[in-house]
Amino acid sequence: MARVFNFSAGPSTMPEEVLTRSSREMLEYEDCGHSVMEMSHRSPSFTAIIKNCEALLRELMCIPKNYKVLFLQGGASTQFSMVPLNLMTNHKQCDIINTGRWTELAMKEAEKVGKYHIIASSKETGFKSIPKFTVEDLSPDSDYLYICQNNTIYGTHYNSLPHLGDRVVVSDMSSCILSEPIDVSKYGVIFAGAQKNLGPAGLTIVIIREDLIGKADACVPTMLNYETHAKKDSMHNTPPTYSIYMCGLMLEWIKNTVGGVDKMHAINNKKAAMIYNYLDESKMFTPRVTDVESRSIMNIPFNSLNEELDKKFIAQAKENGIINIKGHKSIGGMRASIYNAMPLEGVKALVAFMSKFETENL
Ligand SMILES: *Cc1c(COP(=O)(O)O)cnc(C)c1O
Repeated sequence: MARVFNFSAGPSTMPEEVLTRSSREMLEYEDCGHSVMEMSHRSPSFTAIIKNCEALLRELMCIPKNYKVLFLQGGASTQFSMVPLNLMTNHKQCDIINTGRWTELAMKEAEKVGKYHIIASSKETGFKSIPKFTVEDLSPDSDYLYICQNNTIYGTHYNSLPHLGDRVVVSDMSSCILSEPIDVSKYGVIFAGAQKNLGPAGLTIVIIREDLIGKADACVPTMLNYETHAKKDSMHNTPPTYSIYMCGLMLEWIKNTVGGVDKMHAINNKKAAMIYNYLDESKMFTPRVTDVESRSIMNIPFNSLNEELDKKFIAQAKENGIINIKGHKSIGGMRASIYNAMPLEGVKALVAFMSKFETENL
């Protein structure tokens, strides 16, 4: 059987080059005679792997010197707790923009530490757009502003942030990290689970401005304190070694094969435009996000004429090598997740299949 096009929201498809290289290096990594999976995290070989991974991430994202990069576990979901535990230390308050589920889960954890204020929300319209806000809407005494940069479920994305002065901005970039160039210096904390755009599950990347580290109360569990990991260069305990190695390969792929983040962004824009151009013209399929400014280039939710037809589409897509196209259970329909690693051919195959399905079923 041939490799299928996997539109899963996460864990998600990876570049074939990366998988081929990792399988080639599986039994014996370089000249050390054993696998990265079997390697001590304190060994010179692994030290080189994690240092290379950090250096590539710093280079690709232009991360300023006064930011730490942490390689953690626990997924983005653990960051929902770590952020308030480490940052909600002065006024014990934060501001949140509600773009659905992922921010609501973050609110639940923030509430355990202090107060949160929803300063903008798109709940009333079913989270179909990114709500507008300005710096004037923020509370005067909140410790930070929390956003989800790309909402994986609803397919919404911040194309830009308003001017926020010296406000600390915390951003969940799980489903859009490295899909576009961003100015890291505008953020206090950026975090992302690796399983969407950076490799396999198990690794969570945190990029944090140094002055925000070391403020947590003494009662915060050691493993949930950013300072613990920052002080030991993510080596306080065993880091997710194999996922870090795979992330390094993904970053090398972006740098060397793709040619950097600007190029990656251009390809991603092209892929998303192909799907949206088709959806906007189709008589059968409709995009869920109609506000063009709010559209994600990573996750594209859409519907057909009814649930029965959705089911038929999903089943036939699978027979045609297009898998995991079913929408999130909370909103139904379909969702095409087209992360960095989804090749243009995959998107072409999807659009061709949709067009064929439409002709046959309308
Ligand atoms: C997938 C996802 C999460 C949850 O990530 P886990 O690693 O499963 O905890 C959080 N936020 C966003 C935006 C996501 O896409």
